Amino acid sequence: MTTTIDFLSHLNPSQRQAVEHYCGPLLVVAGAGSGKTRALTYRIANLILKHRVDPENILAVTFTNKAAREMKERIQKLFAEQLAMKEYGQRLDLLTEYQQMQLRSQVYKTTIKNLWCGTFHSLFSRILRFDIEKYADEKGRKWNRNFSIFDESDVQTVIKDIVNKQLNLDDKKFDARSVRYAISNAKNQGFSPQDLEREQPNYRGRVISQVYSCYQDRLAENNALDFDDLILIPTRLFQQNEQVLGYWHRKFCHILVDEYQDTNRTQYDLIRLLVTNGEDRKSEWEWRNRSVFVVGDADQSIYSFRMADFTILLEFQNDFGDGLPDEDTRSMVKLEENYRSCENILQAANELIENNTQRIDKVLKPTRGAGEQIYCHKADNELEEADFVINQIQTLKHQNPELDWGSFAILYRTNAQSRPFEELLVRNQIPYTVVGGMKFYDRKEIKDVIAYLRAIANPSDTVSLLRVINTPRRGIGRTTIDALVNASQQLGTTLWEILSDETSVNTLAGRATKGVNNFAAMINRWQEQIATIPVTEMLQGILEDSGYVQDLMNQGTDEATDRVQNVQELYNAALQFQEENEDVTLQAFLQSTALSSDLDNLKEGQTAVSLMTLHSSKGLEFPVVFLVGLEQGLFPGYRSLSDPASLEEERRLCYVGITRAQERLYLSFARERRLYGSREPAMRSQFLDELPEELLAQQRKSYQTYTKSASATRGQQQTKQNWHVGDRVLHKTFGIGEITHVFGEGNKVSVAIKFSSLGQKIVDPRVAQLQKV
Ligand code: ATP
Ligand code: MG
Repeated sequence: MTTTIDFLSHLNPSQRQAVEHYCGPLLVVAGAGSGKTRALTYRIANLILKHRVDPENILAVTFTNKAAREMKERIQKLFAEQLAMKEYGQRLDLLTEYQQMQLRSQVYKTTIKNLWCGTFHSLFSRILRFDIEKYADEKGRKWNRNFSIFDESDVQTVIKDIVNKQLNLDDKKFDARSVRYAISNAKNQGFSPQDLEREQPNYRGRVISQVYSCYQDRLAENNALDFDDLILIPTRLFQQNEQVLGYWHRKFCHILVDEYQDTNRTQYDLIRLLVTNGEDRKSEWEWRNRSVFVVGDADQSIYSFRMADFTILLEFQNDFGDGLPDEDTRSMVKLEENYRSCENILQAANELIENNTQRIDKVLKPTRGAGEQIYCHKADNELEEADFVINQIQTLKHQNPELDWGSFAILYRTNAQSRPFEELLVRNQIPYTVVGGMKFYDRKEIKDVIAYLRAIANPSDTVSLLRVINTPRRGIGRTTIDALVNASQQLGTTLWEILSDETSVNTLAGRATKGVNNFAAMINRWQEQIATIPVTEMLQGILEDSGYVQDLMNQGTDEATDRVQNVQELYNAALQFQEENEDVTLQAFLQSTALSSDLDNLKEGQTAVSLMTLHSSKGLEFPVVFLVGLEQGLFPGYRSLSDPASLEEERRLCYVGITRAQERLYLSFARERRLYGSREPAMRSQFLDELPEELLAQQRKSYQTYTKSASATRGQQQTKQNWHVGDRVLHKTFGIGEITHVFGEGNKVSVAIKFSSLGQKIVDPRVAQLQKV
């Protein structure tokens, strides 16, 4: 079939071998950017086109929902291209838009829709929607197919309630966080409450298993599952019920897993059950029309904190290769060419990862030219770091018209680091998205804390009051809130008028009276101080008074820690605001935060700069990557400094970050960083010293091009001729603008510049380090 041959020609011989592999197990191991995901995607297409496998019989597991979407789009395009040739004898892109759309929609209906492609959680919750009614746990508890999925905060609430109210335990000894962690761990190992008690027969083990058992009761009463159940219950169901397992085993003849190095034991058990139907080994005959195909890179294993275990990858051949002749050659393919990154970037990544002891050496050869040197920037602090990055983005985009905003990515270790970058992007009107997360000012905890401040600044803001009246929980339930709101509506007053009147509250709030009165008194106390204390002090006070941060700390999950860091970053934002502005009232601060979050200028079809944590960047690629915050204690993080295994994991994370870059890579660190409100000196990351020096452009070189040009002009007895009305210039902080006036001359020259985002500003070109663009 000529059409099939056509798309296989986009592959190198090893990739082709992997793609054309039809039955039995196959492991593809290779470094970053070697086309593993491409091979997996093309293999799905090949199974359908060449081997006529029904898409319904294919199960493809990806690491994120985004990756699943991209994979489906890619296959859809490949098929539409084939169809275009077949039906019109023409290339897809030469057809009219309408024809293209028709072909795509035809492919979607006949093929893509029927593919089982998604994350472990999404695929197995789909399976449970079919079969959960056939499952009962060890106490006979049952669920029906309309089950809800509880998120982390639902789970915490339930556990707290069990610990405090149902079992009356000492919540200092059994805080919700550690109990939750123990239960999740048990579930991840496939333990029931009884198993847990057997494993840990001491007092603590017994109590936790009791909480676990009550927790399972609650889930069942609510017909709900948690995230761990989405993997655990299918495993148990398959083990319990041969017919159910047999059905899904027969259905999914071809199973493919991307990023296999980040699979954990329970996920592995599931895959193994589906592939083998619970038997020990499969004969060659049984493999006739089925396969398991996994791709991965042990050097990119970055989820051990979620129990991922890359030895699973290393054991693949032993696990699935039995019963096959020639297992070594038949069950593994190595890819050795990197198609993504320029040679300098690749070499840096290779040398960095060689510092890890726990790894298998592998070859990763460049296919692209040397490319630019890697730039390493030493910034004075986190604000100057953001300034450098945004400046570079503007300059590069200006100098290289082929780059659009989507060509740039800013990668950081912790979510809270995004704030200074976001603020400058907004100020410069550069569209951006936060991948796999929320924009800073859209994050729940930031909105909550800002709602407190708004309610204090403007008590008529009922929306804000309602947002925080019971956040954190202070026993003010829905009925009470409805009664209060109703009363205010009937009387035509604001909610605050009711809240701040004790008599009304005493009448309306029932059991919640005390809670409501305390809340109103707290808001009132802070209102009285608006004019006398700085915003930072108020912010800190309200965070303590409201119990907001304490509540997060009690939860203690990774997610809650992240939220605490974000709230601390909001405090940093307030400090920065006070340093930079004349008007430092609460109202002015709130206005500045509102403006920072206001920009949603992403229009249809427009591209945007991507911001994300290193963990979210897995599998992605960008022409220009900024890897920021390379400081000891931040990246690598504190905890890893004294633990060699986790230091190696941080290094793998750095390897992932570096290998996202296609053409240019910028690394940066700050000499000083504001953490928890105070400025702390920082030390450059050891990872920087592990990179080959000759690949790094001299410190600050790229930045010096700016300063140099500015200082050159500074030295040259600046005259009016240097700056003209109409010149487009790049300002270090405000971005690109146009000169509208030039005042004075020589040392006294100053210029007025119109910035699209900020209006007109008068600056001294020597101080502002202006550059013509
Ligand atoms: P990661 O380990 O980061 O997930 P990967 O091994 O999955 O990387 P891909 O994302 O599949 O790598 O491929 C990296 C880049 O190289 C993509 O842009 C892909 O289109 C391109 N590529 C892969 N194989 C080839 C090839 N044979 N010829 C040209 N380009 C290729
Ligand atoms: Mg990949």
